[in-house]
Amino acid sequence: MLRSSTSRSAAAAQGSIMLFSKTQKPREYQNRRLDALAEPPEVGHELFVGLSALRDTLSSRHHSRDFVFAHARYLRSRVLALGLIFALLSPLWIVVDSLVLPAELLRYTLVGRVVLMLGLVGVLLLAYLNQERIRRIRFSAGMLLALPASFYLLVLLMLPSEHVPNLVGYGFIPFLLVAALSVFPFTLLESLLAGLAMLALLAFAQMIDGSWMTGRGMESLWLLASLLLVSLAANHFQLSLLLRLYRQATHDPLTGLFNRGALEVHLAKVQAWQRETEGEAGLTGSVPCSVLMLDLDHFKGINDSYGHSVGDRVLCQFAELLVSQTRRHDCVARYGGEEFVIILVGSGQARAMEVAERIRYAVEKSEFTDHDGRVIAVTASIGVTRLQQDEPPQASLRRADEALYRAKKEGRNQVAPALEPPGDI
Ligand code: GH3
Ligand code: MG
Ligand code: MG
Repeated sequence: MLRSSTSRSAAAAQGSIMLFSKTQKPREYQNRRLDALAEPPEVGHELFVGLSALRDTLSSRHHSRDFVFAHARYLRSRVLALGLIFALLSPLWIVVDSLVLPAELLRYTLVGRVVLMLGLVGVLLLAYLNQERIRRIRFSAGMLLALPASFYLLVLLMLPSEHVPNLVGYGFIPFLLVAALSVFPFTLLESLLAGLAMLALLAFAQMIDGSWMTGRGMESLWLLASLLLVSLAANHFQLSLLLRLYRQATHDPLTGLFNRGALEVHLAKVQAWQRETEGEAGLTGSVPCSVLMLDLDHFKGINDSYGHSVGDRVLCQFAELLVSQTRRHDCVARYGGEEFVIILVGSGQARAMEVAERIRYAVEKSEFTDHDGRVIAVTASIGVTRLQQDEPPQASLRRADEALYRAKKEGRNQVAPALEPPGDI
């Protein structure tokens, strides 16, 4: 019954066509100005975040932006832990080098070790100081693997080839790094790319030390490839577990919409975005955003007449309808029971009233059905308020709820604006 991601985009596209008809020139202009701003916070009506399917762990293409943030925070904790271990191991290895390498070879490795250690400290600082910068966190994770690999490559290039067999533990570096891949919640493509680079590094080392295409060399390559497969499996399970936990914590299991907790977090994010973009792209003031609170009318009667499972079915159909009526950057959430909330990004009170009326009409005209396809009459009441950037997130929800209460009192199946706060564009 729930929609696939393809039809979801179609629904989102449909929503945007309906919201921005070609006859609305000023609105179109305003939207172009809004588009010029930083992309608004995360899409709120992902019906599917994706569970443990290979598609979800292969790359981050299908991940919601909210999950990408959660993922980056997790990645950062791993970078910090592993970076610290590598940074501590590095000077210890100087001791090992000094015990096994001839004195004249030490200069090749010592400088490299010190540079590697400083690089690792840099990576640690980068990850530590950039808690919310996804790109920098991903970069620091990549560097954590690239630095030791580059160090090994440089030693191989600089050291006279007859001394390469004297190196102790260096051949272990590609194995260590491939094993380290399993510690990170990397996507399969990221890990595969890094793993192939390590295989190439090992092959290069073998060409230099003369074990390339020998039995011993082939065995090492085979072992590294096997280890890579194990790391890929670990990546898949780790990432799918993360996706599952994220979904359970933020989404309503019945409708697949954001739950109340995620809605409140998102509301605060939209407000932060309003503050950040205030006055940009020729806007006077902040980007107008609105909150709609929707409640199904006499829903208890549907449960009583048709049974709870039909009630659940109606809730799912209602959720789909809300998604189809909103745009990609709007947020649709199940607030609780048969109450839903929509955050309209870029819409002031007047525009939000139009959207709410369109949704109310669509609900009234839609054919909600029971399990046998019999049509059930469903209507909804909607309260509308404008989101203020400087108020506690709960305040707009309270106002929208008060407006909803008025819509109920005045007869249901209608839209009511909040009385406060005034002002709109
Ligand atoms: P009103 O028009 O005043 O909103 O009346 P109402 O009957 O919709 O509201 P009321 O608050 O009296 O009842 C809400 C009902 O929603 C009661 C509850 O059993 C039902 N409900 C809440 N959550 C679910 C759910 O997940 N599934 C189903 N089937 N029913 C639910
Ligand atoms: Mg109700
Ligand atoms: Mg209710």
